[in-house]
Amino acid sequence: MLNVWLHNRADTFLIGWTLGMVLLGIGVVAYYAFPADRLEIAAAAFMLEILGFVFVFIAACQFTGRATTRRHWLVLGMAVPLVGVPILIGYDGLGMMIYNFLAGSLLMATAMQYWNARAEAPSPIAALSTLYALAAVSFYACGTIIAHEQTWVMRVHPDNWAEKFNAIMCIAGITGIGALSLGLNNARAARKHRADAETDMLTGLANRRALFERMANGGFTAGHAVVVFDLDRFKAINDRYGHATGDEVLRRFAEALRLNLRAGDIAARTGGEEFVLVLREASLPLATSTAERIRALFAESHVETARGRVAATASAGVALAGPEAGGFEEVLGRADASLYRAKHGGRNRVGAELTLHSLQVAG
Ligand code: GH3
Ligand code: MG
Ligand code: MG
Repeated sequence: MLNVWLHNRADTFLIGWTLGMVLLGIGVVAYYAFPADRLEIAAAAFMLEILGFVFVFIAACQFTGRATTRRHWLVLGMAVPLVGVPILIGYDGLGMMIYNFLAGSLLMATAMQYWNARAEAPSPIAALSTLYALAAVSFYACGTIIAHEQTWVMRVHPDNWAEKFNAIMCIAGITGIGALSLGLNNARAARKHRADAETDMLTGLANRRALFERMANGGFTAGHAVVVFDLDRFKAINDRYGHATGDEVLRRFAEALRLNLRAGDIAARTGGEEFVLVLREASLPLATSTAERIRALFAESHVETARGRVAATASAGVALAGPEAGGFEEVLGRADASLYRAKHGGRNRVGAELTLHSLQVAG
């Protein structure tokens, strides 16, 4: 986990988890390497372990995106002396009982964190949550035995069925939890890379690749309309005001597109200053009026620069997929032909299809 974190520092939950596990490991080794009557060692060991569980809980919050506040840390930090002080003044059994209940509660809280976020990946997260909960139960069992036998002063390493159950749960839990956490983190990274690969960096719209992939995978059927947009004399804007202003104009246009999307419609930036809008279940008049709204909205907007206001316009071409349409690329080609007409008709306008077929569909 530390290794994965070293390669991607953004995954802070990995470092939290690793730190937690290292503290737990040191705590366990320290406690069992020395005689149980070395109270200062026992106190330090159990405080380290509680701190370890706190880190594991914080890591769960980081993974699920829940912010931890300073008050959070204060309350969690108080758990440490609550365990250490009784042991140091001689009540090692009492300290251990408090430790077991606190550890169980922190693990249960961790289990709850993951459980509430299980929508992201239901099976692995439910398994993760279950492992944390089982580990929590094993700590509660250890605490309950001490409370029942009232061995407030112990001076020996505890040894009973609950301790054995606890040891088994911790070994099974750490391996299982480690594997599941790493798997979840990798799946998340893969999803992010996929989203990045499908997104146009400048506008946040889908990119050409994403559009064509979606259209190829059954996303395009009869009744869909395609609108192609191309910004007018955009090269001149770049030349006159600079590339950065050109980029801002492109973002404005993407915004005008976004404001006119219905659920299920797809807007993509397919090239430098070219955009494609795919409207599902559309008619030619609906697609044309949508394109017209976007054109008008964009023509009204402007970008402020040190050299004054920059206004830009766009031309559009519309085509509809009728019952015998030949697929997305064929309809896109027709929309391009409509766009060509709009450009030649003087720009800043929407070109509709002029085929017999589309006229029939348009009624
Ligand atoms: P027309 O009205 O005929 O479409 O003219 P135009 O100038 O828009 O067409 P042309 O294809 O000649 O120019 C497109 C320009 O778009 C050229 C290029 O510098 C610019 N461009 C392409 N990608 C980007 C980009 O990401 N940012 C900026 N600022 N400009 C871009
Ligand atoms: Mg162009
Ligand atoms: Mg252009």
